[in-house]
Amino acid sequence: MLWLCGMTDPFSLAAGWLYENYLVPVLYQADLMAWEDIAYGWVLFALYGVAQVLLMLAICWPMERFARLETWPDRRAVAVDIGYTLLNRIGVMPLVTFVLFYQLQVWLNGFLTDQGFVSPTLERLFPVLMGRPIVTFFIYALILDCADYWRHRLSHSFRWWYALHSIHHAQEKMTFWSDDRNHVLDDVIAFIWFLTIGLLIGIPPMQFPLLILLLRLLESMSHANARVNFGRLGDRLLISPRFHRAHHGVLAAGQTSCNYGAIFPYWDMLFGTADFSREYARTGDPSAEPAAVSGGWFAQQGAGFRRLFRRRSGRTGTVRV
Ligand SMILES: [Zn+2]
Ligand SMILES: [Zn+2]
Repeated sequence: MLWLCGMTDPFSLAAGWLYENYLVPVLYQADLMAWEDIAYGWVLFALYGVAQVLLMLAICWPMERFARLETWPDRRAVAVDIGYTLLNRIGVMPLVTFVLFYQLQVWLNGFLTDQGFVSPTLERLFPVLMGRPIVTFFIYALILDCADYWRHRLSHSFRWWYALHSIHHAQEKMTFWSDDRNHVLDDVIAFIWFLTIGLLIGIPPMQFPLLILLLRLLESMSHANARVNFGRLGDRLLISPRFHRAHHGVLAAGQTSCNYGAIFPYWDMLFGTADFSREYARTGDPSAEPAAVSGGWFAQQGAGFRRLFRRRSGRTGTVRV
């Protein structure tokens, strides 16, 4: 992957500078120079993560400023969500979507070649996609989004899984920072889910982290504390804050959960779970314990484990279905 180091865009230059001045000495000291290419890739995608957070701020902050839905004097719960976002987008996500995905793909390709098989790729399955990288990129996004719809819907169907996912729903002060407010075990499941799909359809290692970056940027926007929708047609093309808020809304009597999609509403429309009629509801999970609602990072994670344990010991918990 040394070709990565020859790139001259601002991100590569900045990553090269950080790498030379800070990372190489550490790697050298720790006798880890075999990891130099991977380490450079991680710095590069961590910088993309910083750019993503800045872009997210540039789009979502004005949205929340000028079309704000709710105002809260105490914003500590929002500060915790900011912590989740920075940790995930700049630290964990580049590590998993680039470093781990690259390693897994190298291993899978080697294993399949040894067994006399060719690695799976979308272009090999559909040769018409050869030489059409933009169309292929869009199809990768559609496939990952469809997989995410089912992951999310299933997480509402199993009591043990919802015990973890309930941390995401416990937030009563939902903002564009809330997308990453997840239990670590729920994140682990999501990463395994995405990595498996990415390997099965042969997403190139440089494209996988960029796809996740783009999808998560749009997902953050859908959590914005803003009275924003894209109109009758637009809401059916791309998920708006209004559409996703209906998923987070406290359910009224007789209502069931809806709108599981992350980026495109097509899967909800196709599988009968879309509801475009719900207005901007109050968010939260009435069955959540106080630590899950307003605790810090550790308190929220602990609350997720306790709810998981309560379920395992046979005591009931609520699943939003
Ligand atoms: Zn959910
Ligand atoms: Zn959400």
